[in-house]
Amino acid sequence: MSTAKTTSAHADRLAQVRERIARACRDSGRDPAGVRLLAVSKGQPLDALRALAVAGQRRFGESYVQEAMTKIRALDCPDCEWHFIGPLQSNKAALVAENFDWVHSIDRVRIATALSRHRAPDAPPLQVCLQVNISGETSKSGVDVAGLPALAEQVAVLPGLRLRGLMAIPRPTDNSTAQRDAFRQLRVACEELRRRGHDLDTLSMGMSDDLEAAIAEGSTLVRVGTALFGPRPLSG
Ligand SMILES: *Cc1c(COP(=O)(O)O)cnc(C)c1O
Repeated sequence: MSTAKTTSAHADRLAQVRERIARACRDSGRDPAGVRLLAVSKGQPLDALRALAVAGQRRFGESYVQEAMTKIRALDCPDCEWHFIGPLQSNKAALVAENFDWVHSIDRVRIATALSRHRAPDAPPLQVCLQVNISGETSKSGVDVAGLPALAEQVAVLPGLRLRGLMAIPRPTDNSTAQRDAFRQLRVACEELRRRGHDLDTLSMGMSDDLEAAIAEGSTLVRVGTALFGPRPLSG
């Protein structure tokens, strides 16, 4: 496929996803400016990221540290924003703290402390979300709702980090009521933390197959991979 064709295919899909977001916002009476689009580029080749960047996308999400490092360096896009959304090991925390703008997947204080320690004092704070395992999820990642207030208190005071909100990856389902139930749990958990005094503005929820339900429940950032890039050729 020529670069020109790749570029226009990605521009088309970007326009389609933006239209889905705009429609979902209209349906729930929300301002589309309140929903940011994160292009989840894990498993995608550099050319695909470049094509999307040419089409105007600036926010990219990656799940594997080494793969991300190669792309961040090669894309060389100073005004791009890099979000780490995958499971994070302490031994990779330095690379993430030094090279990313956001981390969505904090689920224990040990990881947050490692990120805080490695964030350069003269860099802007690393923007972080706590990953929540809302009920019924099969994944082992994420703090459960009961453990959320304690984790939020510990993370909020760490230097070099700014706690922005919550993230979840609910169990996939094509039942839109079940999708909304799960996203509502995350919204309610976020409201509870606000009542406890946390200044949170981010609900990172919604992917290719459920972004409409997430927006209806208050998502401020949707993480979209397949609908923007097509199937992932490199890895899961
Ligand atoms: C892969 C991934 C996505 C994107 O999923 P799609 O279904 O391809 O849109 C979003 N969030 C996280 C945390 C992911 O790992």
